[in-house]
Amino acid sequence: MAAQETVEHKYVYDFAEGNKDLKDLLGGKGANLAEMTNLGLPVPPGFTITTEACKAYLTTGREPDGLAAQIEAHLESLEREMGRKLGDPQDPLLVSVRSGAKFSMPGMMETVLNVGLNDRSVVGLSAQAGGNDRFAWDSYRRLIQMFGKTVCEVPGEEFEHALDDAKRAKGTQNDLDLDADDLRGLVDAYKKIFAKHTGREFPQEPREQLDLAIRAVFESWNAERAVVYRRQERIPADLGTAVNVVAMVFGNLGADSGTGVAFTRDPGSGAQGIYGDYLANAQGEDVVAGIRNTVPLQELEQIDKKSYDELLDYMARLEEHYKDLCDIEFTIERGKLWMLQTRVGKRTAAAAFVIAGQLVDEGLIDLDEALHRVNGAQLAQLMFPRFRLDHEFQPVAKGIGASPGAASGKVVFTSARAVELAAEGESVILVRRETNPDDLNGMIAAKGILTSRGGKTSHAAVVARGMGKTCVSGADELDVNVPAKRFTVAGQTVNEGDVVSIDGTTGKVYLGEVPVMPSEVVQYFEGSLDPEHIDNPLVRAVHRIMTHADAKRRLLVRTNADTGADAARARRFGAQGIGLCRTEHMFLGDRRELVERLILASTDEERQKALAALLPLQRQDFSEIFREMDGLPVTVRLIDPPLHEFLPPLEQLAVNVAVAQERGEDVAKEEALLAAVRRMHEENPMLGLRGVRLGLVIPGLFAMQVRAIAEAAVEVTRSGGTACPEIMVPLVGAVQELETVRAEAEKIIAEVVGDSGVEVLIGTMIEVPRAALTAGQIAEAAQFFSFGTNDLTQMGWGFSRDDVEGAFFWRYLELGIFGISPFESIDREGVGRLVRIAAEEGRAARPGLKLGVCGEHGGDPDSVHFFHEVGLDYVSCSPFRVPVARLEAGRAAITTTGSDSR
Ligand code: PEP
Ligand code: MG
Repeated sequence: MAAQETVEHKYVYDFAEGNKDLKDLLGGKGANLAEMTNLGLPVPPGFTITTEACKAYLTTGREPDGLAAQIEAHLESLEREMGRKLGDPQDPLLVSVRSGAKFSMPGMMETVLNVGLNDRSVVGLSAQAGGNDRFAWDSYRRLIQMFGKTVCEVPGEEFEHALDDAKRAKGTQNDLDLDADDLRGLVDAYKKIFAKHTGREFPQEPREQLDLAIRAVFESWNAERAVVYRRQERIPADLGTAVNVVAMVFGNLGADSGTGVAFTRDPGSGAQGIYGDYLANAQGEDVVAGIRNTVPLQELEQIDKKSYDELLDYMARLEEHYKDLCDIEFTIERGKLWMLQTRVGKRTAAAAFVIAGQLVDEGLIDLDEALHRVNGAQLAQLMFPRFRLDHEFQPVAKGIGASPGAASGKVVFTSARAVELAAEGESVILVRRETNPDDLNGMIAAKGILTSRGGKTSHAAVVARGMGKTCVSGADELDVNVPAKRFTVAGQTVNEGDVVSIDGTTGKVYLGEVPVMPSEVVQYFEGSLDPEHIDNPLVRAVHRIMTHADAKRRLLVRTNADTGADAARARRFGAQGIGLCRTEHMFLGDRRELVERLILASTDEERQKALAALLPLQRQDFSEIFREMDGLPVTVRLIDPPLHEFLPPLEQLAVNVAVAQERGEDVAKEEALLAAVRRMHEENPMLGLRGVRLGLVIPGLFAMQVRAIAEAAVEVTRSGGTACPEIMVPLVGAVQELETVRAEAEKIIAEVVGDSGVEVLIGTMIEVPRAALTAGQIAEAAQFFSFGTNDLTQMGWGFSRDDVEGAFFWRYLELGIFGISPFESIDREGVGRLVRIAAEEGRAARPGLKLGVCGEHGGDPDSVHFFHEVGLDYVSCSPFRVPVARLEAGRAAITTTGSDSR
């Protein structure tokens, strides 16, 4: 006997032992089955093998010690409870083996049904089902098919072809027309396929079936499609899946049986009511696979009123309990309702807002919780345009509006072609009869998805909604012929490459490209819809939640804008100032000539002349912006890019000069220009003469800009407005650079503002790593910092911001070196650390130092949470992202756990 007893790790939980908060351990499905069991709902008995067991298996390649014995013990108690034994020849217990990770990954991992069936127990099952031979053999052929494909990697098409052959032989297209003998024959055919591909007979031992199925579910965590889905949905790769072993109940026992999916509210619009699909005489996956077209759930009332009423009662209880939209799978076995799954349902962006608002009205949640339940990505989606429809555009078909939005593009019929054309920059619409998990890459690449079969709960619909991609499903007027790469509809043929437009809200399909119009949410932000007087539940919900976000957030939200028009729009969207006005565009267009004169000037006088000509133009630019942003701060950044960017490209100029010389033309001016371009040519312009360096090298350039800013501010103030300019120096790496610029600027400002009352702040970008690391010194000379996280990322990682994303980031993403481009979402540990250091050291040197961010990250939801955490005063982003940043800043203020809103 062992002297010491080791406490055995618990890998298996009975449903009665779990609860909804154990998702990390039991996965979403297992945790919710446990919750429903404990609520007293009719859940078939079963147990859950933990994600820890899966992780141990995936790490070591074998089941952890103790797992087999724990499964045995739970199986025995399940057998006792059911009064049947797994695979018993007379009266078999059958089980389903289902995956279930923490975050729902619809259809991405494996499920095996009817485990426990073999050549002998199939007879017992038939007897159990009142002599229903057809049912028993149908269940057996499904087991071999699923087991073969999932556990032993037998190509799924082989089984499908055999099924098609059986239907053809019978002269039917409907699997329900196959009788027991046909199915017995099909089982033989399937077994041959199985043996051919695996080199062994289909396993007859029930426990072996169970163990292999469990192992296959573990392994499906790392299946390619699951990996791709996780990357797309930003689900961590190391969570593992739980495995649920559940006593089988049968929806395919006849007309009094069936299976369905239900939502407690419409996951598309958020409207209250019963919503879902039902399919009589069918088993589990038939509904989501879109094999046969389903009927609306409401029709169940006529089919089986008792089960319908019971289901409605459970739906109400679940919603009350979860305080959210629930998504339910159920089966009716001979008039007895069984609840097979529930979870908080995925929903469209619009439904997320509408439902959050409704639940507040119903007193189930408060406004903080409502704010927590929506996110910036959803709001951004609602700001997408929709189709502008007038009578020129007649739909050719109408399917189900499965995931909203408007999408036009070239028709493709395979996932591979979708990926190919999208890589060439084409917009594509992936058209399929129905999609399956193998289509995932194509769905990601496509602008929209159109299927001819399947309802709102079909694979295409669920996955598209999760991705926020436009989808029309079940457009059954379409006759889709994938091998021939065409579909026909309303007497017309649409070939690969033809353009179609699909409306994921109405389900309508149009031939050709339909023009689009702005969203109501944008109209609301623009101020043309009054939320109090509009009968639009979405706009009302957005208004309510945004108002709450604004009340809660600590971060201010400014915008990056460099024209009066952009400034005005951003202000309507709620911007509280300008965080970055890039002045470089003010040197383009018809001002190029002046810039050329500035660059080519050979004397101080010539240079001063060019600058003097630019001054009034710049003043005009700034006063327009100050007027639009009346009373709010406007950060104007002095010119940043290298000046040669304003000159013609070297090669082109050289060719022009050579050609002109050949023709004997007078090219003195062009030659001077060419010489200047050659002189200014840099191998690494991003690290060259730009930003503050330019200001220190070209006399009078920054001075002209400072004067224009100060004069514009005085002009606006004198005419009754309030200008609050903040001058920002780019690319500072050393305090001395800033001090030099500042000394000159202060003299000019003092001279210009006089007693006008205008106050001009002078601060700096923090976008060079050295600046971040010497922020304490720089803060002595800066009245504010604005983090330029674009350059900080570029120089922090050493990634050329113009090249790397297209060049090799795909590989880095594939390898998991990062989950998202650091140019899109702030790299918290590296670049974020530079921000944190600079914020702390800057404020230590100058208490109350104003801090903001104006790189692209200012409008990225996750990054906004980070900037809240490090204590910045504001984020600044492009006008369209201002509402997103407001919302996320509100969410950041009510949560400390980031923006995890899956
Ligand atoms: C930055 O570098 O983050 C920034 C805002 O400046 P720009 O993008 O103009 O270089
Ligand atoms: Mg920059």
